[in-house]
Amino acid sequence: MSVLDVAWAERWMHVAATDVRAARDELTELDRRIGDGDHGVNLDRGLSAVVGRLDDPAQPVRETVGQVLRLAATTMMSTVGGAAGPLYGTAFLRASKVTDRAELGPTGVVALVEAALEGIVARGRATVGEKTMVDAWQPAAEAAERAEGAEHVVDVLRAAAAAASAGSASTVPLVATKGRASYLAERSAGTEDPGARSSAIILAAAVAAAEGSGG
Ligand code: ADP
Ligand code: MG
Repeated sequence: MSVLDVAWAERWMHVAATDVRAARDELTELDRRIGDGDHGVNLDRGLSAVVGRLDDPAQPVRETVGQVLRLAATTMMSTVGGAAGPLYGTAFLRASKVTDRAELGPTGVVALVEAALEGIVARGRATVGEKTMVDAWQPAAEAAERAEGAEHVVDVLRAAAAAASAGSASTVPLVATKGRASYLAERSAGTEDPGARSSAIILAAAVAAAEGSGG
């Protein structure tokens, strides 16, 4: 596929909800070790609410990718809770502002990932290496930028998702200096950051939705 459309954005949210549901216990266990154990439940609740609203015939039909992402943003802000709700909410809200079109090519996908990262940084003021979701989104944005010249738009997403997964894995040895895990100081080392892990899952869902293999 050379462009990603509104149906892709809606599939992305459906696949993300399914995949986060499948990973809920894993995310909860990571957050139990270095936080308060609610990340999987928080995100599952939020993405289920997003899908509920997308599937609600009373909702207006979405005509741009940005409209799908704005619905996801406002729903996650009000339903996810914790630190992750405002962080993901701001990420999707910023992303919605640069995607107010019916279709995205490679440049549009790069802008989406960059805007999401900017939203997370604007909200949480974390930098790479602090053991947060920035450790997934920053390498994802950089990989997307490097892949911008790709022939197929899905290759931009694949690059971003692979970098997010590697970035999340890179948080295992880190000591957290932001968020609840920072209360543990040195004891936060040895566990993957739950928000970085969920970010990698959400970006992998974007790939699956583009390949039409999700759901
Ligand atoms: P809470 O910490 O309030 O229980 P969650 O468990 O839902 O919220 O989310 C925790 C995740 O939020 C962390 O794993 C981390 O990735 C992310 N996070 C926390 N603080 C920040 C921050 N300042 N910047 C970026 N991400 C953060
Ligand atoms: Mg938590």
